[in-house]
Parts: sequence; structure tokens; C-alpha cells
Amino acid sequence: MRIVLLGPPGAGKGTQARRLAESTGMTHLSTGDMLRSEVASGTELGLLAKGFMDSGDLVPDSSIIAMIQQHIADPSGVLLDGFPRTLIQAEALNEALDQIGLPVDQIVYMAVNIDELIRRLSSRVVCKECQTPYNLEVDRPIKSGICDHCAGEVIVRDDDRPAAVKNRMKVYEELTAPVLDYYQSRMNVVEVIATGTPDAVFTKLNEAIGSDAPFN
Ligand code: AMP
Repeated sequence: MRIVLLGPPGAGKGTQARRLAESTGMTHLSTGDMLRSEVASGTELGLLAKGFMDSGDLVPDSSIIAMIQQHIADPSGVLLDGFPRTLIQAEALNEALDQIGLPVDQIVYMAVNIDELIRRLSSRVVCKECQTPYNLEVDRPIKSGICDHCAGEVIVRDDDRPAAVKNRMKVYEELTAPVLDYYQSRMNVVEVIATGTPDAVFTKLNEAIGSDAPFN
């Protein structure tokens, strides 16, 4: 099973993909998390990616495609979060799956209005170690500044600062919104209005994905 979660920055893709992965045993593939761990380890890819990420721009397609390729055939099934983010990436995903004879099984679009997105991103903090996201308004860590899961330090992401957020929204509209049109013209895209508490959105996602999904 290969499920793609689409949606703007702040839609809750990471939060929900983690929960879905936990409840289904599928592998959560977040290109953002993968890149942040490359940055933290100081790899060649991490050094290349950091500048793009900090300013809210996209990392070049070729690097992203090479990074994700080896993971998409994971036999546990994959939940793709943050990929594909351009039409070139969507085509590359199709080609890679064609080569191994697997389809994209489901596309879920998480819709949230712009005011709510900005509000969420400006109150978001994440664990520096395991990357669990929190929201200082509705979903704080139990101990301030410390991750509930791994006791890592909880910080504000550089790209959640106002100038980067503005750029990420622009990049989303220009480069990633067309990916939604691309899939809508090819297959059924399930839309979930992803507002409300994380629990409420999780319930909606499970309902919307339908009875053929592995997690119902
Ligand atoms: P995310 O955690 O998904 O919000 O991603 C954080 C940042 O990582 C993005 O703003 C981009 O700079 C980079 N990034 C993540 N996924 C991709 C992708 N599929 N293509 C290009 N850049 C990406």
C-alpha cells in the first residue's frame, strides 16, 4: 500500500502520518524529516539542503528523488509525507513505481485555510532529536521544552519563522499546488478538511480513506 498525504505546510501531514504509521505498521516517509536528519549529521546532502530549507525553498528535485527512491518499495507499505512536492517529483514517483509494478493506492489531500495554517506554524515546535511536532496552543509537550517521547530538546524550526513561512506558502502555491491538480486529473483524491483537534482529524482521515484502506 502506498498512500500520499498532500497538503500545505502546517496542514498536519507529519502529525497524522505518524499516527497512521503507528496504527497500521506502515512506514512513515517524510522527506522533511529525512532532510533534517541529513542536516543534523552534516552529510553532503545535509549541507546542500540546509540553505534551501532555512529560507523555505525546495531542495532540488534530483537530490530528493535519489533520497526517496530506495524506500518506496518498503514491504510494510509507505505513507508519503511531503513528497511529491513538484510535478517532476510526481512523475518520478510514477516511473519508479511502474518499474517495480506497484501503484499509488491512495491520495489524501488535507485542506486547511490560510489563517489557520499561519496560526499553526507560528505556534509549532518540534523535537530536535525525534522530530515529533507539538503545538504550543493545543498540543504542548508535558514538560516545557522537553519531548514526551525521547526527552530531546523541543525547539522552533528555522523555517517556521515568519519570513520563511511566507516563502513556504508562496512556494507551495507555485510548485506544489499543481501536484494536487495532477493527481485529481488521474485518480480519485480524497479530501479531508483537516481542522479541529489532532484526534478529530485522525478520525476524519480514517473515515475518509474508506473501507479499502489498511487502517480501518
Ligand atoms: P517539511 O518538513 O515537509 O515541511 O519540509 C521542510 C523543508 O524540507 C521544505 O521546506 C523543503 O525545503 C525541504 N523539503 C522537504 N520535502 C521536500 C521535497 N519533496 N522536495 C523539495 N524539498 C523538500
